[in-house]
Amino acid sequence: MAQGVWTIAEQRDGEFRKITFEVVSEGRRLADALGVELTAIVLGAGMKDKAAVLAQYGADRVIVADDPRLETYTTDAYTSVLSQILSAAEQGVVLMGASVQGKDLAGRLSARLEAGMAQDCTAFSIEDGEFVAVRPIYAGKAYVKLGFPAGGFRIATARPNVMSIAELDAGRSCEVVDAEFKLDDAELKTRVVEVLADESGKIDLTEADKIVSGGRGMKGPENYAILEELAALIGAAVGASRSAVDAGWRPHADQVGQTGKVVSPNLYIACGISGAIQHLAGMGTSKYIVAINKDPDAPIFQRADYGVVADLFDVVPALTEEVKKIL
Ligand code: FAD
Repeated sequence: MAQGVWTIAEQRDGEFRKITFEVVSEGRRLADALGVELTAIVLGAGMKDKAAVLAQYGADRVIVADDPRLETYTTDAYTSVLSQILSAAEQGVVLMGASVQGKDLAGRLSARLEAGMAQDCTAFSIEDGEFVAVRPIYAGKAYVKLGFPAGGFRIATARPNVMSIAELDAGRSCEVVDAEFKLDDAELKTRVVEVLADESGKIDLTEADKIVSGGRGMKGPENYAILEELAALIGAAVGASRSAVDAGWRPHADQVGQTGKVVSPNLYIACGISGAIQHLAGMGTSKYIVAINKDPDAPIFQRADYGVVADLFDVVPALTEEVKKIL
Protein backbone atom coordinates (compact mmCIF):
# COMPACT_ATOMS: atom_id res chain seq x y z
CA MET A 1 0.00 0.00 0.00
CA ALA A 2 2.02 2.97 -1.27
CA GLN A 3 0.71 5.84 0.75
CA GLY A 4 1.80 8.49 3.18
CA VAL A 5 0.65 9.32 6.66
CA TRP A 6 -0.58 12.88 7.18
CA THR A 7 -1.28 14.53 10.49
CA ILE A 8 -3.27 17.72 10.93
CA ALA A 9 -1.89 19.99 13.63
CA GLU A 10 -4.20 21.88 15.97
CA GLN A 11 -3.26 25.30 17.25
CA ARG A 12 -5.01 27.93 19.28
CA ASP A 13 -3.70 31.49 19.54
CA GLY A 14 -0.61 30.38 17.64
CA GLU A 15 0.34 27.62 20.09
CA PHE A 16 0.12 23.91 19.28
CA ARG A 17 -2.36 21.97 21.40
CA LYS A 18 -1.04 18.89 23.17
CA ILE A 19 -3.11 16.65 20.88
CA THR A 20 -0.91 17.81 17.96
CA PHE A 21 2.13 16.12 19.50
CA GLU A 22 0.13 12.98 20.31
CA VAL A 23 -1.08 12.69 16.74
CA VAL A 24 2.34 13.37 15.18
CA SER A 25 3.93 10.78 17.50
CA GLU A 26 1.30 8.21 16.57
CA GLY A 27 1.66 9.15 12.91
CA ARG A 28 5.40 8.40 13.16
CA ARG A 29 4.71 4.91 14.53
CA LEU A 30 2.24 4.20 11.72
CA ALA A 31 4.52 5.63 9.01
CA ASP A 32 7.35 3.39 10.26
CA ALA A 33 5.06 0.35 10.21
CA LEU A 34 3.98 1.18 6.66
CA GLY A 35 7.45 2.25 5.50
CA VAL A 36 6.15 5.63 4.28
CA GLU A 37 6.74 9.34 4.96
CA LEU A 38 5.01 11.31 7.67
CA THR A 39 3.80 14.77 6.71
CA ALA A 40 2.44 17.24 9.27
CA ILE A 41 0.11 19.97 7.99
CA VAL A 42 -0.17 23.22 9.93
CA LEU A 43 -2.90 25.78 9.24
CA GLY A 44 -2.75 29.20 10.83
CA ALA A 45 -1.28 32.68 10.60
CA GLY A 46 2.43 33.21 11.30
CA MET A 47 2.98 29.57 12.34
CA LYS A 48 5.93 28.79 10.05
CA ASP A 49 8.71 29.31 12.62
CA LYS A 50 6.91 27.24 15.21
CA ALA A 51 6.05 24.44 12.77
CA ALA A 52 9.63 23.12 12.65
CA VAL A 53 9.18 21.61 16.13
CA LEU A 54 6.96 18.91 14.62
CA ALA A 55 10.06 17.36 13.01
CA GLN A 56 11.37 16.76 16.52
CA TYR A 57 8.31 14.62 17.22
CA GLY A 58 8.79 12.61 14.05
CA ALA A 59 7.52 14.49 10.96
CA ASP A 60 9.55 13.99 7.76
CA ARG A 61 8.00 17.04 6.16
CA VAL A 62 5.92 19.94 7.41
CA ILE A 63 3.51 21.83 5.14
CA VAL A 64 2.35 25.21 6.40
CA ALA A 65 -0.74 27.00 5.09
CA ASP A 66 -0.38 30.59 6.19
CA ASP A 67 -3.29 33.01 5.88
CA PRO A 68 -5.00 35.41 8.31
CA ARG A 69 -8.28 33.63 7.55
CA LEU A 70 -6.77 30.42 8.98
CA GLU A 71 -5.70 31.98 12.27
CA THR A 72 -8.87 30.73 13.98
CA TYR A 73 -10.56 27.49 12.97
CA THR A 74 -13.56 27.58 10.68
CA THR A 75 -14.95 24.46 9.02
CA ASP A 76 -15.17 26.02 5.55
CA ALA A 77 -11.68 27.46 5.33
CA TYR A 78 -9.89 24.49 6.89
CA THR A 79 -11.76 21.95 4.75
CA SER A 80 -11.05 23.92 1.60
CA VAL A 81 -7.31 24.28 2.25
CA LEU A 82 -6.78 20.73 3.49
CA SER A 83 -8.65 19.15 0.62
CA GLN A 84 -6.48 21.13 -1.80
CA ILE A 85 -3.26 20.01 -0.08
CA LEU A 86 -4.34 16.39 0.28
CA SER A 87 -5.74 15.97 -3.18
CA ALA A 88 -2.17 16.32 -4.50
CA ALA A 89 -1.82 12.78 -3.14
CA GLU A 90 -4.24 10.05 -4.14
CA GLN A 91 -4.39 8.13 -0.92
CA GLY A 92 -3.06 8.06 2.59
CA VAL A 93 -3.85 7.87 6.28
CA VAL A 94 -4.97 11.23 7.70
CA LEU A 95 -4.93 11.67 11.47
CA MET A 96 -6.15 14.47 13.69
CA GLY A 97 -7.32 14.87 17.27
CA ALA A 98 -10.82 13.94 18.39
CA SER A 99 -11.17 17.43 19.83
CA VAL A 100 -14.21 19.58 19.09
CA GLN A 101 -12.30 21.00 16.12
CA GLY A 102 -10.93 17.67 14.88
CA LYS A 103 -14.27 15.87 15.05
CA ASP A 104 -15.93 18.65 13.09
CA LEU A 105 -13.15 18.84 10.52
CA ALA A 106 -12.86 15.07 10.00
CA GLY A 107 -16.54 14.82 9.12
CA ARG A 108 -16.46 17.58 6.55
CA LEU A 109 -13.10 16.54 5.09
CA SER A 110 -14.14 12.92 4.67
CA ALA A 111 -17.23 14.05 2.76
CA ARG A 112 -15.14 16.36 0.57
CA LEU A 113 -12.53 13.66 -0.17
CA GLU A 114 -15.09 10.84 -0.30
CA ALA A 115 -12.99 9.04 2.28
CA GLY A 116 -13.78 6.53 5.01
CA MET A 117 -13.62 8.01 8.50
CA ALA A 118 -13.40 6.73 12.09
CA GLN A 119 -14.04 9.08 15.01
CA ASP A 120 -12.67 9.12 18.56
CA CYS A 121 -10.25 6.21 18.16
CA THR A 122 -8.25 4.81 21.05
CA ALA A 123 -5.75 2.73 19.04
CA PHE A 124 -4.40 2.36 15.52
CA SER A 125 -2.42 -0.45 13.93
CA ILE A 126 -1.22 -1.78 10.62
CA GLU A 127 -2.48 -5.28 9.90
CA ASP A 128 -1.43 -7.06 6.71
CA GLY A 129 -0.25 -3.70 5.42
CA GLU A 130 -3.63 -2.05 6.03
CA PHE A 131 -4.55 0.74 8.45
CA VAL A 132 -6.91 -0.39 11.23
CA ALA A 133 -8.62 1.90 13.76
CA VAL A 134 -10.07 0.87 17.13
CA ARG A 135 -12.87 2.84 18.75
CA PRO A 136 -15.22 2.33 21.71
CA ILE A 137 -18.88 1.58 20.97
CA TYR A 138 -22.03 1.10 23.09
CA ALA A 139 -20.95 3.79 25.55
CA GLY A 140 -17.57 2.13 26.03
CA LYS A 141 -18.90 -1.40 26.69
CA ALA A 142 -17.14 -2.81 23.63
CA TYR A 143 -14.47 -1.90 21.12
CA VAL A 144 -14.76 -2.21 17.36
CA LYS A 145 -11.90 -2.65 14.89
CA LEU A 146 -12.48 -0.71 11.68
CA GLY A 147 -10.92 -1.32 8.30
CA PHE A 148 -11.21 1.04 5.33
CA PRO A 149 -12.00 0.52 1.64
CA ALA A 150 -8.92 0.05 -0.53
CA GLY A 151 -7.55 3.20 -2.16
CA GLY A 152 -8.38 6.78 -1.27
CA PHE A 153 -7.87 8.41 2.09
CA ARG A 154 -8.49 6.87 5.47
CA ILE A 155 -9.35 9.59 7.98
CA ALA A 156 -9.33 9.03 11.74
CA THR A 157 -9.45 11.15 14.87
CA ALA A 158 -7.52 10.16 17.99
CA ARG A 159 -9.03 10.53 21.46
CA PRO A 160 -6.97 13.12 23.38
CA ASN A 161 -4.57 11.81 26.07
CA VAL A 162 -4.63 8.22 24.79
CA MET A 163 -1.69 8.13 22.34
CA SER A 164 1.69 8.62 23.99
CA ILE A 165 3.91 11.52 22.95
CA ALA A 166 7.32 10.53 21.54
CA GLU A 167 10.40 11.75 23.32
CA LEU A 168 11.44 15.01 21.70
CA ASP A 169 14.51 14.57 19.48
CA ALA A 170 16.08 18.04 19.45
CA GLY A 171 18.58 17.02 16.76
CA ARG A 172 15.89 16.08 14.26
CA SER A 173 14.83 18.52 11.55
CA CYS A 174 12.94 18.42 8.25
CA GLU A 175 11.92 20.67 5.40
CA VAL A 176 9.12 23.12 6.14
CA VAL A 177 7.32 24.08 2.95
CA ASP A 178 4.60 26.57 2.14
CA ALA A 179 1.32 25.07 1.02
CA GLU A 180 -0.09 26.04 -2.32
CA PHE A 181 -3.77 26.83 -2.02
CA LYS A 182 -6.43 29.30 -3.02
CA LEU A 183 -8.92 30.58 -0.53
CA ASP A 184 -11.83 32.31 -2.17
CA ASP A 185 -13.82 34.61 0.10
CA ALA A 186 -16.98 33.77 -1.84
CA GLU A 187 -16.53 30.12 -0.84
CA LEU A 188 -16.34 30.92 2.89
CA LYS A 189 -19.78 30.90 4.43
CA THR A 190 -18.58 31.83 7.90
CA ARG A 191 -15.92 34.11 9.32
CA VAL A 192 -14.74 34.65 12.87
CA VAL A 193 -15.93 38.01 14.12
CA GLU A 194 -14.84 37.75 17.73
CA VAL A 195 -13.46 35.06 20.04
CA LEU A 196 -14.80 35.20 23.59
CA ALA A 197 -12.21 33.33 25.60
CA ASP A 198 -12.98 31.67 28.93
CA GLU A 199 -11.24 34.02 31.35
CA SER A 200 -11.38 31.65 34.31
CA GLY A 201 -7.97 30.15 33.48
CA LYS A 202 -9.48 26.70 34.12
CA ILE A 203 -7.70 23.67 32.68
CA ASP A 204 -9.59 22.30 29.67
CA LEU A 205 -11.20 19.03 30.79
CA THR A 206 -10.46 17.21 27.54
CA GLU A 207 -6.76 18.02 27.80
CA ALA A 208 -6.39 17.63 31.56
CA ASP A 209 -3.85 15.14 32.83
CA LYS A 210 -5.77 14.81 36.11
CA ILE A 211 -9.46 15.33 36.89
CA VAL A 212 -11.28 15.48 40.21
CA SER A 213 -14.95 14.96 39.53
CA GLY A 214 -18.02 15.24 41.73
CA GLY A 215 -21.53 13.82 41.42
CA ARG A 216 -24.82 13.92 43.26
CA GLY A 217 -22.99 12.74 46.37
CA MET A 218 -21.51 16.26 46.66
CA LYS A 219 -24.93 17.30 48.02
CA GLY A 220 -24.73 20.91 46.81
CA PRO A 221 -22.71 23.42 44.75
CA GLU A 222 -20.94 24.92 47.76
CA ASN A 223 -19.25 21.60 48.55
CA TYR A 224 -17.30 21.60 45.30
CA ALA A 225 -14.88 23.92 47.12
CA ILE A 226 -13.22 20.82 48.61
CA LEU A 227 -12.73 19.36 45.13
CA GLU A 228 -11.43 22.70 43.82
CA GLU A 229 -8.87 22.82 46.63
CA LEU A 230 -7.58 19.31 45.94
CA ALA A 231 -7.60 19.94 42.19
CA ALA A 232 -5.61 23.17 42.53
CA LEU A 233 -2.96 21.37 44.59
CA ILE A 234 -2.42 18.55 42.12
CA GLY A 235 -2.96 20.59 38.93
CA ALA A 236 -6.24 18.91 38.05
CA ALA A 237 -9.40 20.08 36.30
CA VAL A 238 -12.76 19.72 38.06
CA GLY A 239 -15.48 17.67 36.36
CA ALA A 240 -19.02 16.65 37.24
CA SER A 241 -21.66 14.02 36.56
CA ARG A 242 -24.83 14.91 34.72
CA SER A 243 -26.84 14.79 37.94
CA ALA A 244 -24.68 17.56 39.36
CA VAL A 245 -25.02 19.59 36.16
CA ASP A 246 -28.78 19.03 35.91
CA ALA A 247 -29.12 20.18 39.52
CA GLY A 248 -27.43 23.45 38.48
CA TRP A 249 -24.41 22.85 40.73
CA ARG A 250 -21.89 22.94 37.89
CA PRO A 251 -21.89 24.37 34.34
CA HIS A 252 -22.58 22.00 31.45
CA ALA A 253 -18.99 22.56 30.25
CA ASP A 254 -17.87 20.48 33.27
CA GLN A 255 -20.06 17.48 32.46
CA VAL A 256 -18.24 14.22 31.77
CA GLY A 257 -20.03 11.45 29.93
CA GLN A 258 -22.04 10.42 26.94
CA THR A 259 -23.79 13.78 26.64
CA GLY A 260 -20.87 15.71 28.10
CA LYS A 261 -17.14 15.60 27.46
CA VAL A 262 -15.11 12.51 26.72
CA VAL A 263 -11.94 12.64 28.80
CA SER A 264 -8.97 10.35 29.16
CA PRO A 265 -6.68 11.71 31.88
CA ASN A 266 -3.94 9.80 33.63
CA LEU A 267 -5.86 10.16 36.89
CA TYR A 268 -9.64 10.46 37.37
CA ILE A 269 -10.89 10.82 40.94
CA ALA A 270 -14.66 10.21 41.06
CA CYS A 271 -16.24 11.56 44.25
CA GLY A 272 -19.86 10.67 45.02
CA ILE A 273 -20.44 9.37 41.49
CA SER A 274 -22.26 6.06 41.12
CA GLY A 275 -20.67 5.10 37.79
CA ALA A 276 -23.68 4.93 35.47
CA ILE A 277 -22.87 3.63 31.99
CA GLN A 278 -23.40 7.11 30.52
CA HIS A 279 -20.79 8.53 32.90
CA LEU A 280 -18.35 5.70 32.22
CA ALA A 281 -18.72 6.41 28.48
CA GLY A 282 -16.95 9.70 29.11
CA MET A 283 -14.12 8.64 31.39
CA GLY A 284 -13.73 4.85 31.07
CA THR A 285 -10.43 5.11 29.17
CA SER A 286 -8.76 7.12 31.97
CA LYS A 287 -5.48 5.49 32.95
CA TYR A 288 -6.09 5.33 36.70
CA ILE A 289 -9.57 5.67 38.17
CA VAL A 290 -9.98 6.35 41.87
CA ALA A 291 -13.51 6.12 43.28
CA ILE A 292 -14.66 7.53 46.60
CA ASN A 293 -18.19 6.37 47.38
CA LYS A 294 -19.93 5.26 50.54
CA ASP A 295 -21.90 2.54 48.75
CA PRO A 296 -19.70 -0.58 48.33
CA ASP A 297 -22.02 -1.80 45.55
CA ALA A 298 -21.70 1.36 43.43
CA PRO A 299 -20.88 0.30 39.84
CA ILE A 300 -17.95 2.73 39.71
CA PHE A 301 -15.96 0.25 41.82
CA GLN A 302 -16.08 -2.28 38.99
CA ARG A 303 -14.08 0.11 36.81
CA ALA A 304 -11.94 1.76 39.49
CA ASP A 305 -8.27 0.90 39.96
CA TYR A 306 -8.45 2.16 43.55
CA GLY A 307 -11.62 2.43 45.58
CA VAL A 308 -12.37 4.01 48.92
CA VAL A 309 -15.67 2.97 50.52
CA ALA A 310 -16.26 5.93 52.80
CA ASP A 311 -17.88 9.34 53.13
CA LEU A 312 -16.24 11.69 50.65
CA PHE A 313 -16.56 14.57 53.15
CA ASP A 314 -14.09 12.69 55.37
CA VAL A 315 -11.82 11.35 52.64
CA VAL A 316 -11.34 14.36 50.33
CA PRO A 317 -10.16 16.82 53.05
CA ALA A 318 -7.88 14.11 54.51
CA LEU A 319 -6.45 13.43 51.04
CA THR A 320 -5.88 17.15 50.53
CA GLU A 321 -3.97 17.37 53.83
CA GLU A 322 -1.79 14.40 52.85
CA VAL A 323 -1.05 15.94 49.45
CA LYS A 324 -0.06 19.22 51.16
CA LYS A 325 2.49 17.30 53.24
CA ILE A 326 4.24 15.83 50.22
CA LEU A 327 4.20 18.93 48.00
P1 FAD B 1 -26.12 9.08 41.49
O1 FAD B 1 -26.32 7.97 40.54
O2 FAD B 1 -27.29 9.52 42.29
O3 FAD B 1 -24.95 8.65 42.44
C1 FAD B 1 -24.53 9.38 43.55
C2 FAD B 1 -23.50 8.53 44.27
O4 FAD B 1 -22.96 9.27 45.33
C3 FAD B 1 -24.08 7.25 44.87
O5 FAD B 1 -23.35 6.13 44.38
C4 FAD B 1 -23.90 7.42 46.37
O6 FAD B 1 -23.57 6.20 47.02
C5 FAD B 1 -22.75 8.38 46.43
N1 FAD B 1 -22.72 9.21 47.64
C6 FAD B 1 -23.74 9.92 48.18
N2 FAD B 1 -23.29 10.63 49.25
C7 FAD B 1 -21.98 10.30 49.40
C8 FAD B 1 -20.98 10.67 50.34
N3 FAD B 1 -21.24 11.55 51.34
N4 FAD B 1 -19.74 10.14 50.20
C9 FAD B 1 -19.46 9.27 49.22
N5 FAD B 1 -20.37 8.89 48.29
C10 FAD B 1 -21.61 9.40 48.38
N6 FAD B 1 -24.53 11.01 33.32
C11 FAD B 1 -23.31 11.57 33.31
O7 FAD B 1 -22.62 11.65 34.32
N7 FAD B 1 -22.82 12.09 32.14
C12 FAD B 1 -23.49 12.06 30.97
O8 FAD B 1 -23.00 12.56 29.96
C13 FAD B 1 -24.78 11.44 30.96
N8 FAD B 1 -25.49 11.34 29.83
C14 FAD B 1 -26.70 10.68 29.86
C15 FAD B 1 -27.41 10.50 28.67
C16 FAD B 1 -28.62 9.84 28.67
C17 FAD B 1 -29.34 9.62 27.37
C18 FAD B 1 -29.15 9.34 29.89
C19 FAD B 1 -30.46 8.59 29.91
C20 FAD B 1 -28.46 9.53 31.08
C21 FAD B 1 -27.25 10.21 31.08
N9 FAD B 1 -26.53 10.42 32.25
C22 FAD B 1 -25.28 10.96 32.20
C23 FAD B 1 -27.13 10.16 33.59
C24 FAD B 1 -26.69 8.86 34.22
O9 FAD B 1 -27.55 7.82 33.80
C25 FAD B 1 -26.74 8.95 35.75
O10 FAD B 1 -28.05 9.32 36.12
C26 FAD B 1 -25.78 9.97 36.34
O11 FAD B 1 -24.48 9.74 35.84
C27 FAD B 1 -25.75 9.78 37.85
O12 FAD B 1 -24.97 10.80 38.42
P2 FAD B 1 -24.30 10.57 39.85
O13 FAD B 1 -23.44 9.38 39.80
O14 FAD B 1 -23.71 11.86 40.24
O15 FAD B 1 -25.58 10.37 40.78
